[in-house]
Amino acid sequence: EQQAWGALRDQHTVSQDGRKYEVAANVGALSDITVARDHGAEGIGLLRTEFLYMNQTELPSEEEQFKAYRQFVSGMDQQRVVARTLDIGGDKRLGMLKLPREENPYLGFRAIRIGLAEPTILRPQLRALLRASAYGRLAIMFPMIATPEEFTQAREMLDDEKRKLSRAGVAVADNIEVGMMLEVPSAAVMADVFAPDVDFFSIGSNDLIQYLFAADRGNSRVSYLYQELHPAVLRLVKRVIDAAHAEGKWVGMCGEMAGNPLATPLLTAMGLDEFSMNSSQILPIRSLISHLNNRQLQPLVHRALAAHSAREVEMLVKEYVPMLR
Ligand code: PEP
Ligand code: MG
Repeated sequence: EQQAWGALRDQHTVSQDGRKYEVAANVGALSDITVARDHGAEGIGLLRTEFLYMNQTELPSEEEQFKAYRQFVSGMDQQRVVARTLDIGGDKRLGMLKLPREENPYLGFRAIRIGLAEPTILRPQLRALLRASAYGRLAIMFPMIATPEEFTQAREMLDDEKRKLSRAGVAVADNIEVGMMLEVPSAAVMADVFAPDVDFFSIGSNDLIQYLFAADRGNSRVSYLYQELHPAVLRLVKRVIDAAHAEGKWVGMCGEMAGNPLATPLLTAMGLDEFSMNSSQILPIRSLISHLNNRQLQPLVHRALAAHSAREVEMLVKEYVPMLR
């Protein structure tokens, strides 16, 4: 098996029936670049930029950020790197940013909500990312978008910084894809409204599931509600994929669900284009995809969407894909 994976590393990820997928890495430190490459990543699907801000006494400067982002972009050669703008709040707090305590941090001032309210934090990050885009293939996405207005505002801020850099003669790639995390249920429901304005969606299943079931992802008392294979999740994921494809846009997933083998046959057959996960899961998932036949899995999707529980879906997946038993 190890040897088979070795052969996979230098090929594309293609299912039995010939559809191509991209299996990428989630990274959150400079040292993750080599790890991702060693594990056969076909790109970076989620660059968590928080590491530059955590355990610091001051906000990182634009220059410091630029140098870090450039390392990711050039380190992956011409493979795509999807960088997510700062996603703090919720469980992640920053010492240098004195934010008031909140009753419900996951429902509070976090991620893009902070970025839009505090442009002095988001604008330097956008400039640093734009400058780094000249060194490879960069895509940018905004976290926790709940309404089309938020995406428009964030995108306008990005376009504004891009114009300023161009006017100053700074090199910026002209093909930067701009997308959003799809992790708030309102955005999933309205995916068709967002789709014309984005270049891609990346489904953040960790948050999407927590908000869908109203169950804190870190609270063990309610973890029984946290069910990746639940038909409620699958119906929403399908809706997002269909809405994006109707506008010719691609869809990735960068939450833990993307690396769950029991979800893989459902996600490939529903047409997810990109999977992003911890590096250690990349080759096993690439190997699994290469054994799947999407046409044969369509009845599975059909039955899973009509199922009543995650348990039922799990049994269906094992029925259709014996290697997962
Ligand atoms: C997610 O919510 O699924 C996600 C990938 O983002 P994070 O885990 O960083 O919130
Ligand atoms: Mg998230």
